[in-house]
Amino acid sequence: MPLAENLAAVQYRIATACEQAGRDPSEVTLLAVSKNHPAESVAEAVRLGLTIFGENRVQEAKAKIPLSPGRARWHFIGHLQSNKARDAVALFETIESVDSLALATELQKQAEKQAKTLKMLLEVNVAGESSKFGWNPERLLAEFMQLNAFSRLELHGLMTVAPYATDAEKVRPVFRRLRELRDRCADLLGASLPVLSMGMSGDLEVAVQEGATIVRVGTALFGPRPKVVRESADEI
Ligand SMILES: *Cc1c(COP(=O)(O)O)cnc(C)c1O
Repeated sequence: MPLAENLAAVQYRIATACEQAGRDPSEVTLLAVSKNHPAESVAEAVRLGLTIFGENRVQEAKAKIPLSPGRARWHFIGHLQSNKARDAVALFETIESVDSLALATELQKQAEKQAKTLKMLLEVNVAGESSKFGWNPERLLAEFMQLNAFSRLELHGLMTVAPYATDAEKVRPVFRRLRELRDRCADLLGASLPVLSMGMSGDLEVAVQEGATIVRVGTALFGPRPKVVRESADEI
């Protein structure tokens, strides 16, 4: 299906979930996950009104972003190695996947050097899957105030990647726990922590019902991802 039709279908899904939850669709940002898709797809999405794009590898983003429309804004959503922090700070407006104090420290250092401020979300491994990166919730609560103390990093909220499930209802508790953890972090902060990035192509309705403010959608917009040939193993 062409992108325009896919976009209409995704927007309809978001609107329907908002209606069920008594939320206003303007509270939910659609982030288009363009990983493995070319800059032409980004340009087409921008023409259709999408503005926020997600990438999960720095090398790929470094090649793609300069070829994409300047209006596009970029969120990093993959595991970030500290040695890629300099490029990530230069390329991205938001790092959604900050998963350690060491990484935040490096991002702060690079942002300082580049005289930038960076938005960040903290990635939480809610279900404790060994295959995934992200904070253990208890550890996050323990380190939260340190994470909020970086002068160049604006802490906006939390992000999670739910376990894969054919029945999206099964991951509802994961989204709910992320929201509850966000509320506990906001209590520590004594201020609101507005952003909850959760939900993808297969489970975005449930995520919206549980309070998502960003849904990250790839396949339902752009179709199946073409395989990308990588030049080195450390790109995986
Ligand atoms: C690839 C990816 C997505 C999008 O997944 P789809 O199922 O294609 O919508 C969302 N979030 C992250 C972190 C991803 O890596």
